[in-house]
Amino acid sequence: ILRLFSQPLFELINKGAFIMIIVLKNDQATAAIEELKQYFGSQHEIFVHNNRVAIQNTDPSDLTPAEQAAAQEIITDVPSAVQASRLFHPEDTIIKTPHSTIGGKNFTLMAGPCSVESAEHILKMAQVVKNAGATVLRGGAFKPRTSPYSFQGLGKEGLIALRNAADRLELDVVTEVMDVEQVPLVEAYTDIFQIGARNMQNFSLLKAVGKTRKPVMLKRGMSATVDDVLNATEYIAAGGNHQIMIVERGIRTFDNKYTRNTFDVGVSPVLQKLTHYPVIADPSHAAGHTEFVTPLALAGVAAGANGLIVEIHDDPAHAFSDGAQALKPNEFNEMVVKTNAVRQALQSIE
Ligand code: PEP
Ligand code: MN
Repeated sequence: ILRLFSQPLFELINKGAFIMIIVLKNDQATAAIEELKQYFGSQHEIFVHNNRVAIQNTDPSDLTPAEQAAAQEIITDVPSAVQASRLFHPEDTIIKTPHSTIGGKNFTLMAGPCSVESAEHILKMAQVVKNAGATVLRGGAFKPRTSPYSFQGLGKEGLIALRNAADRLELDVVTEVMDVEQVPLVEAYTDIFQIGARNMQNFSLLKAVGKTRKPVMLKRGMSATVDDVLNATEYIAAGGNHQIMIVERGIRTFDNKYTRNTFDVGVSPVLQKLTHYPVIADPSHAAGHTEFVTPLALAGVAAGANGLIVEIHDDPAHAFSDGAQALKPNEFNEMVVKTNAVRQALQSIE
């Protein structure tokens, strides 16, 4: 039987089955798939996705010379995060929200305050976001704070204020969901679930958003390796939710005295090679200080990120959270001019 790349294939891989993937030359794919089916179909499970064929319990030496000749590439080393891998899904994932198209050649700008502080304030910030050409409004209503005595967020009231501000200005909402019980409430108000760095390996939460059909923006954990991030996305995908984007927001290293985290600029091209999910750069949480946000944003764009998420505030000294890294509206506008210039420069040399 011939099946499409799907859950049964991923289960086989998970059980440790030996899988060979043959990437067929485009012009020979149809005929070669037919031949492989004849040749292996009675004894082995065969799965197909466009010009890719996965066959269980075979290796390259089992292929006839004609089959080998039709192959552009033969892969026997299959990663554990199968649904995240380009091996099984070479095309870029494109996520569509009411006001944005995220991934592929699109560039998505997301901005807003760290926390939703009041209905008036989030509307004022939404206006700045809109005027700069961004399409997604950020703001935390549930805040994961290092100290339990720090501002914890406005909760449902914050979600309502965020939704209203975004709707008035035709923007999408991204906001953090901190635990499983909050998923239905946050789902009712957001367009994109944000999973924070501290929750990247909260597997129950990942499973819970994986059961929804709303896009998920997964932030890389402070000490998470690339494979940790990809396996975290796999928890979401295993639930059937494939609308996932990954955020590089800086990691902990031996020297985070002058920057809050170390922005891993190399991770964008690495992730884009390994996975089809969009990669968003968060220069704010990486920098930790306003003066370093724009340079990191430029680096993120230059390295090929599919978008940026940036924290802004009109009165950073009195921000409820993360004021030290907020861009004021005029600074944000200048950042956008500069990042647009980098994007244009990249397009002109492509
Ligand atoms: C945030 O986006 O405000 C936030 C708390 O981010 P992170 O989870 O990356 O620390
Ligand atoms: Mn923040």
